[in-house]
Formats: sequence, structure tokens, C-alpha cells
Amino acid sequence: MFKTIFSKLVVIFIAILLLGYSIAGITLFYFLDNYVSDEQVKLMEQKVDNISNQLNIFLPYLQNKNTSLDAAMLLSRFINSTAGSSSYIWVVNSSGYIILPTADYMGIQQNIKSNMKTDDSGIKLPDEKQYKKITTGQTSELKEKGDFYGLYQNTPYTWLTIEKPFKYTLANSNKSSYLGILISTPISEITKTRTSVINFFIISVSVSSIISVVLIYVFSRRISKPLKQINEAARVIASGDFQKQLTIKSKDEIGELAESFNQMVADLRNLEEMRRDFVANVSHELRTPMTSIKGFIEGILDGTIPPDRQLNYLNVVRDEINRMNRLVNNLLDLAKIESGDIPLNFRVIDINELCRRCIIKLESLIVQKELEVEANFEDEEAFVVADPDAIERVIINLMHNAVKFSFNGGKIEINTKNMRNKVVVSVKDEGIGIDQDEIDMIWDRFYKSDKSRGKDKSGTGLGLAIVKNLVNGHGQEIWVESEPGKGTVFSFTLNAAPTPDDNE
Ligand code: ATP
Ligand code: MG
Repeated sequence: MFKTIFSKLVVIFIAILLLGYSIAGITLFYFLDNYVSDEQVKLMEQKVDNISNQLNIFLPYLQNKNTSLDAAMLLSRFINSTAGSSSYIWVVNSSGYIILPTADYMGIQQNIKSNMKTDDSGIKLPDEKQYKKITTGQTSELKEKGDFYGLYQNTPYTWLTIEKPFKYTLANSNKSSYLGILISTPISEITKTRTSVINFFIISVSVSSIISVVLIYVFSRRISKPLKQINEAARVIASGDFQKQLTIKSKDEIGELAESFNQMVADLRNLEEMRRDFVANVSHELRTPMTSIKGFIEGILDGTIPPDRQLNYLNVVRDEINRMNRLVNNLLDLAKIESGDIPLNFRVIDINELCRRCIIKLESLIVQKELEVEANFEDEEAFVVADPDAIERVIINLMHNAVKFSFNGGKIEINTKNMRNKVVVSVKDEGIGIDQDEIDMIWDRFYKSDKSRGKDKSGTGLGLAIVKNLVNGHGQEIWVESEPGKGTVFSFTLNAAPTPDDNE
């Protein structure tokens, strides 16, 4: 059921939402519980204090025979209005008799009245616990949650009762006595406020939940949709179609993923093109010599080529076979170098010495073309850290090119120069040069400029690809400067060997 990211996100979000609301709800509930009853107790105490004040004011009138009835009536009214419709307020004397409100204003529910005692002197609280401590001045406040020692049994509510003493002195004596002022409120009355707040909370939670769920839905869709797109695109690409591009524009990680994905597709496309070009190039490079070899051999066999010229053609055949041989060897070498199968053997070597050796190796070609070779070494020796075989191959390739593309009687220079911790080796010729628009392509496999084809038919176009790979394998750079008709300079760097001075 929760297989998709979308459904997982929705479930996680909703769970978080529910958890958050539950914690908030429970906290609110307990906070309100305390807050509401604290407030209620305060309110009830205030009412008791009000009654106390009134009693003080009315006391002289209550004790005067002529005014006592009116005073009691007025006080009773005041007490009833203070109590409101849901509470009871009673003033009791030290024997537990309810003296205020007076019988006319009492208005007690029948089931509560039946819990009280009624005799000739009036209505009385049934249990001493309900008044004794207060009316003897033993305690200054009585607070009780429940049925107040049986007074409210048989009622459907739990009651909160507060009782406080009222101290007074009779007019004809100096003795002070106590009355008890008692107020009772059903707890349900107290929880009413809480319930209405909780109800309000539930309504707002419901409304915000609905809004949140809609937002979560939209948001999760937005996250999962681009992932779906990427997945579909990956499938298309896996089937070999490298044209697919994603159009996700978001700036977040998914946008970055889409960008990397597009880059990967572009790279794959290039790779595929390279692969096709490579196969086409190799087939072309092999087919041409094979066609001519076949033609010559058939010509010899069927006698089209007369015996006196056969040797000539066989020489051509041998040259072509040699070229194919070199091509295949070069290809294998290039593949090995690119895949790192030929490990580089770094050693400290004198690059100047190596250059001299390369010149000697190419001597016969140089002499054939009557070239002048100039070696410009800044110092007698220049030590570098490099693989001698690889670097020899680089220099031979560059010099061979220089020889091939020089005019007869031209000049070739080979230079080494120290530059900080590098040695720059360059091979310069005054040959045909390279056109500016071709200069970036000479490093590609099989690339041979149109101009060079006339001068060199034996080249495979792999030399510079091998050179670049070897130099880069050393972590070094190679570059070329050339002007058509004037000449070309190839230069590359090598790491100079650390001298004892460096360690100081
Ligand atoms: P191979 O080196 O395999 O015998 P190649 O020499 O033709 O064949 P690269 O050495 O890779 O192949 O050179 C690629 C092309 O770059 C050459 O065919 C030529 O067009 C151009 N080029 C290279 N070196 C020079 C140079 N010194 N002067 C002018 N053009 C050059
Ligand atoms: Mg070459």
C-alpha cells in the first residue's frame, strides 16, 4: 500500500500532524483544567468575601429588632443574586442552622433539602463536619470537591464547596462568634468553560487538518512527480534512445538531479557518437589498404601486372601491410593507455639526454629530408620525474610529425626550459602548419588534416591521441601553437625532480 514515495510522504506528514495536534490538545486540556478551576475558586472566594462585606454592613440592622426582618430580606435577595442560578450560598450559625437566605428565599432543590435536617428552629446542615471547624474559628477556609460530606448525595453532579468564617461581635456582649459562609457550585459548571474551549480547539484542528491534508497532497505530488519523470526518462534511455531531455526547472536537489541526469544523457550521446565514428574510422582505415592489396595481388596472379613491375607492387603491398600493422598496434596501445593497463613507471631522468637519444633514433629520416636539427637546452642537464618509455614515445611522435610536415631542407628545434618546478619541452618545426579551425581536432583519434594528407600517406592519425593520453597520464599539460605555412610548436610540461636545495 505504501510502495510509492507519494503515499509514504502523505502518511508521514499526516502522522506528524496528528501527533502535533494530540500533544497540543492534551496540553491544552490539562492546562485548562487547572486554569479553569483556579479561576473558579477565585471567583467563589470573591463571592464569599462580598457576602462578608454585606453582612458587616447589615449587622447593626440585623441586630435591631425593628429592622432585622427587612435587613434579612434584603440580604437574602443579595445572596441569591450573588449565587446565580447554578450555585448555592448559605450562611450557617454555629449549630449548623441556615440563617440566610431566609426560608422565603431559600429555594433549595427537594433532593438536597431531604439530605438536611428540618426541625422547629429551621433547616440545618446534617453533619458537624460541614460547619464545626469554621464556626469555632479552627480553620479559615474549607474547600471540598465531592458531595460535601453527604449534603449533595443523590444529585447528578460533583460539587465544589468553599466555606469561610465570618467573625462578628454581638451588640450586647463583648464576645465574638463565628458564622460560616458556604458556597457550592456543580463541577459541570466549571468544566463548561473548558468544554467550550476544547470544542473551539477541535473545530480549528479539523479545519486546519483539512487544509493541511490538501496542502500535503499537493506538496507530495510536486515532490514525487519529477522523480516519476526521471524514472520514465531513464527507461527510455536504457532502451538506447539518447535524445530524451528532462525539463524540470526546480532549484532544489531534484532540479540538480535532473541537471546531472541531462548531463549524463548528453555524455552518453557523445560516447555513442564516438563509438560509431570509431567503428566507421577503423573500418575505413583498414578497408582502403586491403582493397589495394587485393587489387595488386589479383593483378599479379592474373598477369595484368607484368613480372618486371611485380616487385614494385609487392613493395607497396608490404608498406600497406606495415601501415595496417602499425594502425592495429597503435589502437591496442591507445586502448591500453586509456584504460590504465600500462602502468607508468616514474623515475628521475635527464630529459635532455632523452631528447638527444630521440634525435639519434630519427636520424635516418632527418638525413633523408636534409633537415637541420637544433637542440636548445637551458642547462646541460634537466632532471624530471617521468616514465622514460612513455616520454620517449611522446617526443618521438612529436619529432616524427615535425619531420613529416617539414619541407625538405627545413629546420627543427627541440627546446627544454626550466619554469619554477616544471620543465617545458617543446618541438618546433617550420613546416606546413595547422589551420586554426583544425587545431582543436588534431588530438582526436584518426584525425588527419586535409593539408597533411598530401605530405603523409602513411600516418594513422593516432599519434597525437596517444601523446595526449600519455602526457595527461603524467598529470601534465600539452598544447600547440601553429601558423599555416610558417610552422608549428608542440609544448608539454613535466615535473622537475626535487633538487637537494628544495629540502632546505
Ligand atoms: P601517426 O602519428 O599515427 O603516424 P599522424 O601523424 O597523421 O599519424 P597525429 O600524429 O595524431 O597523426 O597527427 C594528427 C594530425 O595533426 C596530422 O595528420 C596533421 O594533420 C596534424 N599535425 C600533427 N603534427 C603536425 C605538425 N608538426 N605540423 C603540421 N601538422 C601537424
Ligand atoms: Mg604522428
